[in-house]
Amino acid sequence: MAHISIKDVSKSYGALQVLKPFSLEVEDGEFLVLVGPSGCGKSTMLKILAGLEPASDGQIFIGDREVTDLAPGDRDIAMVFQNYALYPHLTVRQNIGFGLKMRGMSATDIEARVQTAAKTLAVDAYLDRKPKDLSGGQRQRVALGRAIVREPRAFLMDEPLSNLDAKLRVHMRAEISALHKRVGVTTVYVTHDQVEAMTMADRVVIMRNGEIQQIAAPDVLFQRPDNLFVASFIGSPG
Ligand code: ADP
Ligand code: MG
Repeated sequence: MAHISIKDVSKSYGALQVLKPFSLEVEDGEFLVLVGPSGCGKSTMLKILAGLEPASDGQIFIGDREVTDLAPGDRDIAMVFQNYALYPHLTVRQNIGFGLKMRGMSATDIEARVQTAAKTLAVDAYLDRKPKDLSGGQRQRVALGRAIVREPRAFLMDEPLSNLDAKLRVHMRAEISALHKRVGVTTVYVTHDQVEAMTMADRVVIMRNGEIQQIAAPDVLFQRPDNLFVASFIGSPG
């Protein structure tokens, strides 16, 4: 687990500034949700945290280590995307263990870690199946397993539920929240769905046009929105 600290980060693509300078602290073990309309810069923010896009300016710290210029693989974080493609030709066991194998871990250690991760996500009964023989929810859990097996210091998730049908999405929200309570890893979770944000977050970051509008716990956002945009976005009375 680690504290994440973002200091004066901004992002431009050519003349287009997609993130105005912002600073943000994510507490150790916190579940922080970034929410806002499509195109407001949520994915860009997450990619910068992950090291998949360079920031135009500013600094990022994970724990007490500056990671601003580190490659994604050196940041000790795991990412779960919307298109969580599993390897179709590999079993669940091989899918979950794949990243560890790439790191050169021994087969015995990989198996032990895969077992633990699979139990945590209740996919331990399916370890020998291929992805095509799993339900959507089981596949999503395997994708999460692939992330937690690495025992990262932080999780970044970009709309991980948006490919699921409405009923499964609601179910997986609860599963991800429960997983977070069990594992306790600092998590930054992106969604455009305000209900998802309000039900899952310790604190919510409301974004609009590349700018943070308010950062607060769900009940505070609801009772004391800082501006009209926040109020109408989360559907608060005022
Ligand atoms: P969100 O995830 O909130 O929907 P994004 O972070 O994907 O928003 O995009 C924010 C803005 O940045 C959008 O206007 C998008 O078109 C622009 N953008 C994203 N990636 C690039 C890129 N590689 N080049 C130019 N513009 C980009
Ligand atoms: Mg996005």
